[in-house]
Amino acid sequence: MRAEGYETSKQYAHADLVIVNTCGFIDAAVEESLGAIGEALAENGKVIVTGCLGVKNDLIRAKHPAVLAITGPHDTPAVMSAVHAHLPKPHDPYTDLIGVKLTPPHYAYLKIAEGCNHRCSFCIIPSMRGDLVSRPIGEVLQEAENLVKAGVKELLVISQDTSAYGVDVKYRTGFWQGRPLKTRMTQLCESLGQLGAWVRLHYVYPYPHVDEVIPMMAEGKILPYLDVPFQHASPRILKLMKRPANAEKVLERIRDWRAACPDITIRSTFIVGFPGETEEDFAQLLSFLKEAQLDRVGCFEYSPVEGAAANALPDPLPHEVKRHRKEQFMKTQEAISANKLKRKVGRTIKVLVDEPGVGRSSADAPEIDGVVRFKGGKAGEFRDVTVDRAGEHDLYGRLQ
Ligand code: SF4
Repeated sequence: MRAEGYETSKQYAHADLVIVNTCGFIDAAVEESLGAIGEALAENGKVIVTGCLGVKNDLIRAKHPAVLAITGPHDTPAVMSAVHAHLPKPHDPYTDLIGVKLTPPHYAYLKIAEGCNHRCSFCIIPSMRGDLVSRPIGEVLQEAENLVKAGVKELLVISQDTSAYGVDVKYRTGFWQGRPLKTRMTQLCESLGQLGAWVRLHYVYPYPHVDEVIPMMAEGKILPYLDVPFQHASPRILKLMKRPANAEKVLERIRDWRAACPDITIRSTFIVGFPGETEEDFAQLLSFLKEAQLDRVGCFEYSPVEGAAANALPDPLPHEVKRHRKEQFMKTQEAISANKLKRKVGRTIKVLVDEPGVGRSSADAPEIDGVVRFKGGKAGEFRDVTVDRAGEHDLYGRLQ
C-alpha cells in the first residue's frame, strides 16, 4: 500500500523524505509494497518503511538495502524517531499528515519499553498495552546515537515503567558497538550518558535499584532529574491504589538521593480524591508534601476511567471535595516550589534554548515543568544564564 497522503509517486522528488506504509498480508500486496519502496528510492532516495511488511526486515533489506529505516506496524514512535534521525528539521506537511506532533529538532523522546507489569487500580494501561515488553538495548542505544548524530541535544527516556526496563527479558545481555550490555536501566543510563546529550529519566517507579542511577546524576553523566510518580502518601490509599505503601521509607530515600546528589530535581505526580480518601489520608498527603519538599509536582483529581478496578471501590468523593483538596494541595506545593526556585537566584545555570528567550535547565522537562526566561539565544544551543529573579514556576535571568 502506498503512503497515501504524503506524496504521490510523481511528487516524491520534492519531498524531504518518503514514508512508505506497507502491507504484507498477501503476496500481491508484498509485491506492490516492494515496488512502491523501489519507486520512492529511485525518485527521492530517502525512504523509511513502516506497516505490516516492516516485520519482514530481511526481505526488504535484501531487495532494497538503501532504505533508511524499517519499522513494524502501529509503531509511530519508531517512525518518528527515524524521521528525527534522518530529517532533523521536519516541516508542517509531515506533522500535519502524520497526525503526530513532532518535538523540536533539539530534543527527542526515547521509548525504551511498552506495557506495564503493575496493576495500579486506577490505571487501564496494562489492559490496553499488556505486560512490559522491553526493546533490545542495542536497538535503543543505536536509535539514541542516531538521534544525537542528527543534532538532538536532549534525550527524554520514556516508557510506562522506566525502572522496570529489562525485567521481562530477565535483564538479557544485548550488544551495542560490539560490547555486551545488560538490558537494565542502570546500564542503559551509563551508555546513554556517553553520547554527549542530556539524558532525562521519566516515569521511574520507585524500585530499590533506582538508587543506582543517583551517583551517575551526581557525576553529571545523566541529568540530575528524577520523575517518580508517588501518587499518594497514605498507606491505606496506596494499598487501595495497589502501589508500594511506605511513605516513611520514601522520605528516607529522598533524603539519601539528595545527600548523594544535592542538585537533584525530584518531580512527582499525585492523585487526590481517590475513593475512600478521608480527611486524615489527605492530611497525611499534605504533611508528606511539606516534608518531602519535592521540586516539581503534578496533581490530578481522581476521575474514574472506564475499565479501571478502582471504579468498584466504595465511598467515591463528591466533585466539590476533590476540587477543594486539589486546590489545597497545589497551594501547599506552590509555596514549596517558589521557595526552592528563590534559592537559585544569583546562580549561573546551564540551559538548553528552546526558542529565543526561553530555555530549560536540568530541572525543567519540556511541556510539564517551568522554563528559564532571558533575552536572546538560538533554539538548540546550550547557554549559561545567571538567574536574577524567581517566579512560582519559572526563572528569569541574563545570558552569559
Ligand atoms: S499507573 Fe503506571 S505503574 Fe501503575 S499500572 Fe499504570 S502504567 Fe503501570
